[in-house]
Amino acid sequence: MKKIIERLNPHCGFFYDITKVLVRVRSAWQTIELAESPEFGKVLLLDGITQVALKGEERYHESLVIPAMLSHPDPQRVLVIGGGDGGVLREVLTFGTVRNAVMVELDEAVISFSKQYMPEISAGAFDDPRAEIVVGDGRAYVEQCPDTSFDVVIMDMTDPFGPSEKLYTREFFAQVKRILRGAEGVFAMHGESPIARPAAYACIEKTLRKVFSCVKSAFTYVPMYGTLWSFKFASGTTDCASLSAKDVGSLLNARCERMPKYCMPQTYKAIFAPEPAAIEALFHPEGRVIEDRRSRFPDAFDPQGA
Ligand code: SAM
Repeated sequence: MKKIIERLNPHCGFFYDITKVLVRVRSAWQTIELAESPEFGKVLLLDGITQVALKGEERYHESLVIPAMLSHPDPQRVLVIGGGDGGVLREVLTFGTVRNAVMVELDEAVISFSKQYMPEISAGAFDDPRAEIVVGDGRAYVEQCPDTSFDVVIMDMTDPFGPSEKLYTREFFAQVKRILRGAEGVFAMHGESPIARPAAYACIEKTLRKVFSCVKSAFTYVPMYGTLWSFKFASGTTDCASLSAKDVGSLLNARCERMPKYCMPQTYKAIFAPEPAAIEALFHPEGRVIEDRRSRFPDAFDPQGA
């Protein structure tokens, strides 16, 4: 049986079997594959790297979206950067407060591929009248955006390498802050793994702290990424870690069309619990603010390398 072998850092990684590559296409940007695996069901890979799998995807999508959407006082306008599979858009649109959700994805082929072969992930979100899909570079879109009325910006991006590298810099985060409406606006993004990539974790945290005064982190094990993963929530005043389980329950009832599969009230509290590995990672000697002039992460490596 063929195996997908992914390095989490140069010295360790994980594997899973695949029974079949069902579809493989080459877009202008990347190789897009759909594979069938006994462990995760259907899996979407970009350039051989696992992006999303049917089994357990809610652990990632809900943990990235729900804290931002519940903590903001009234999230009506949302920008999603990346996220071509539609999982983040799906979660955003379960919120009845949302009037408009713009999604900016670099590669139109990821959207059409996901719609055709993995429709369970977007679950109709691309056809929602509140959704507006823009094909283009997320950084250019944000920099050129005259509209400064986004309540929440959620970045669902490939790891910082190649076309996504310039979306992890201080300069880019400052542009995200500019398009958020007021200090209560929230920026959510994944923050790498504090266990597998402590230097990258420290870099993202330090870079966000340069721009936003309130930066909170959540952690959960994401089986399709083979390790403990982190989620960052940055804002001027909104503290996504401060909701009580009772608040989470009432807000879910008031704002959501359906209950989460994963991020229910007690789990919401649990993912914001202090994570010793993350605290230790912040002392990593290579942790630094990532800037445009030096945007390569100190621990960058080839996940498929020998
Ligand atoms: N959850 C996944 C992960 O963490 O591995 C990410 C999934 S999502 C499919 C990532 C998307 O980011 C891809 O569809 C990719 O095309 C898109 N992307 C990469 N660089 C981008 C850029 N500069 N602007 C907008 N989208 C970008």
